[in-house]
Amino acid sequence: MGSSHRTPIYRDAGFTFENIAEAEQAFIDESLVPQSSRHSIYTRWGNPNVISTERILAKLEGCEWSLLTASGMAAIDTALSIFQNGAQTGTWLFFSELYGGTNVYIEEVLKRTRGINIERIEPQSQTYNLEELDNRLKDLKPKLLFFESISNPLLIVPEAKQVIQLAKKHGTKVIVDNTFGTPYLWHPLEDGADLVVHSATKYLGGHGNLTAGVVCGNDSEFKTKALKYRKFVGSILSPDDAYRLETQLTTFELRFHRQCENAALLARFLDSHEKVKSVRYPGLRSHPTFEQAVELFGEKGFGAMITFELQGGRPSCDIFVDSISETVAYVPTLGDVNSTLVHVSTVFGTDRYPFEGMIRFSVGCEPYKQLGAQISAALDNISV
Ligand code: PLP
Repeated sequence: MGSSHRTPIYRDAGFTFENIAEAEQAFIDESLVPQSSRHSIYTRWGNPNVISTERILAKLEGCEWSLLTASGMAAIDTALSIFQNGAQTGTWLFFSELYGGTNVYIEEVLKRTRGINIERIEPQSQTYNLEELDNRLKDLKPKLLFFESISNPLLIVPEAKQVIQLAKKHGTKVIVDNTFGTPYLWHPLEDGADLVVHSATKYLGGHGNLTAGVVCGNDSEFKTKALKYRKFVGSILSPDDAYRLETQLTTFELRFHRQCENAALLARFLDSHEKVKSVRYPGLRSHPTFEQAVELFGEKGFGAMITFELQGGRPSCDIFVDSISETVAYVPTLGDVNSTLVHVSTVFGTDRYPFEGMIRFSVGCEPYKQLGAQISAALDNISV
């Protein structure tokens, strides 16, 4: 029998020991430092497939360690929860423009259930003002700051390096959700962030066929705390999904490079189209945070999400979605090799996003000529 060049799938819930003494030593090692035993013990605590994929992700993020979780939300929960410390938890400051699920988690879990003191900072004219941030950090002295490298769905890119420097100046720890930026565009830990989280469901997995999250860091104390938290709440990724993620990560850079190229072309095309009212793409000069994106990402690209508004509001969106449905599926996720889209206000709420004609488009790896032609034909069907 030949050997596998990948880690074979270890579906075992628990691992076999030769004798009591071997098990005893493994449990002692584990109680001193989680996952320090050479012997796997129990999959909820650690699993060979998960560990092997974590090594690849740590390399990709250029950091000491990464921990895989069952979803992006579980990664966010793990990263934040290790800073919760009873009466000493203090205030946590969040940028207001975040993924809807994160906003709900903040309100329902952190604020309402756990009683944590949460503060928000809003962008002014769609950019975060550094002077205001400095003042808020000075006044609130938050223990934590959390932001997205490219916000979902408005694609706001903050002056992230300066944001981290300001937080450091005030002794505030920083967590960055780099799901939209990905390790291809930016390594927040190299610029001083304390932890990075990703929904690996998106670009890292890239095929819409698994749900996963990852927390990345350099600090060993944070790693120990995060490992313990994940073990106690049981949010480790499954061996099967870790195996799939490991395989799919081999093409991550190829995929994302192509997706960024396609997105840049498509954004320019949409921007010049008469049926399109406005286009948000960080690589367009007209984007409110174009300069911030250039500074942060340099020549590498501007991500692969485009949020645009059609002339004619909701009826135009209905026609567009219908016309393109054979090739671009309406799916409430993103980052897939195939382009997908959603209607923003009906998914994320009209209160927050009162733009009836707004579509969030996740650009895939299709040949651009083919994708552009399909979108052009769908736009032609709209009469405004
Ligand atoms: N962070 C961002 C920026 C997201 O867009 C999402 C989901 O869309 C998440 C976190 C949550 O990820 P998951 O759905 O894998 O829990």
